[in-house]
Amino acid sequence: MSLNPFYNPFFLLKILKNYFIDINNLRRFNDDQLKQFRDKKFRKIIRYAFTVPMYKELYEKAGIRVEDIRGLSDIYKLPIISKEYIKSYYPDGLIPKNKNKDKFVTVSTSGTTGKSLSIFVDMFDIIMGLFGYLRTVKEYDLNWRKHKISIIGDFAPNTAETGYVKKGLFPKAWFQSYLKNLQWLDTNDKPEKIIEELNSFRPDFIGGYTGMLGHLAVLKEDGFGKNIKPSVIASTGSLLDPTLKKYISNIFNAPVFEVYGTTETGPIAFQCKEFGKYHVMSDLLHVEFIENNRIVSSKEPGHILVTKLYGGGTPIIRYNAINDIVSPLYEKHNCGLAGDLIEKIHGRDSIYLYRRDGKKVLAMSITGIFSKLLYELKTSKFRDIKVIQHDIKKFEIQAVIDEKLRNEGPSVDKIFSVLKNGFQDYFGNDIIIEAKEVKNVSRKEPRIITKVDPGKFKETGYI
Ligand SMILES: [Zn+2]
Repeated sequence: MSLNPFYNPFFLLKILKNYFIDINNLRRFNDDQLKQFRDKKFRKIIRYAFTVPMYKELYEKAGIRVEDIRGLSDIYKLPIISKEYIKSYYPDGLIPKNKNKDKFVTVSTSGTTGKSLSIFVDMFDIIMGLFGYLRTVKEYDLNWRKHKISIIGDFAPNTAETGYVKKGLFPKAWFQSYLKNLQWLDTNDKPEKIIEELNSFRPDFIGGYTGMLGHLAVLKEDGFGKNIKPSVIASTGSLLDPTLKKYISNIFNAPVFEVYGTTETGPIAFQCKEFGKYHVMSDLLHVEFIENNRIVSSKEPGHILVTKLYGGGTPIIRYNAINDIVSPLYEKHNCGLAGDLIEKIHGRDSIYLYRRDGKKVLAMSITGIFSKLLYELKTSKFRDIKVIQHDIKKFEIQAVIDEKLRNEGPSVDKIFSVLKNGFQDYFGNDIIIEAKEVKNVSRKEPRIITKVDPGKFKETGYI
């Protein structure tokens, strides 16, 4: 028989203790207590990392001993880890030598940029990741034991959610009974199906991907989902521009906040109720913000490095391949939560278009152009969109039309003209835009690509 940790009562106790104590860490700790807690967790993770070949070999080569790392102030002694480095040790080098990889669940990052990465997580990672998410539910005055929670995840094969939830949690009977107030929906289903299921479940909390939430808001405005009256909505997975956020919030008559996380790290940050600032889950993670080998200043965009302070699968320590551009906020604000703050999440570093002044226009801004289709034109007629920048002045927009909606609402030409205006606002009135219908767009590469040669002009920062 297998030694499933869930048959072990001590493991269950550990989970419960972690839930009842840890979920409040950011509320109950002051800065000093949080620092001590983090340093202790960090030392433990470093000791664990020395049992994992990928880290052991790297650290020994750099002449680092376990005792050199006494707290997070020593983190700079450790080399930064790239995605390629982790991949080179897959699979056996990513877990302790004496552990069997069948005891872990594999999760993979999305392969849309052709750089998919697989790592191992254990039950403890999975539970803590879920607690991180449930913590946000609690911050918005809901109780997951009493209130109904709908989570619209990406349950396609090999996604993080499939690994964490379907392979990790669903097979556990206790999970099904303990968390029966949770409804799990698949964002790969059509919005029309999702809204029906939400309508019969009547959730108090809806968590989902930004795009799906937008589509649901359009349907709701059209009169679907009359029973859906959540008291709060959480958006994950991609960027939510302020106007789209307001639209979703108005339609559902509920506040919308963002949870920021990744496959490799679990939840990283969430927006607080009072001020909407992003609070890093600093008891679970340590974050660094670096651009050109230098720590960025407050509100300055930079690459985020993440260190996970918990877990028993593949450790994540000074991991640089989240590839998001994020601005930290080095200020105090008084909502009673301890830990680090993020001012703004700008989007993937690989997804941008060039403006002629050398600035990279990041996904956050480009998303704003497209979300107008939802909140101004109220249409979900475009099922998929791709933008190719051929040169500094020439853009191509490809759109996949939903045939069922073709003759409803604004015409395709009207939609294209709204998009053209949006692009002109950002890139100038003299740009050339070719907009056309296509049958489908390739999922192998990002939806936004530029062919502009960066060697030909000076990059001057981000927008
Ligand atoms: Zn706050």
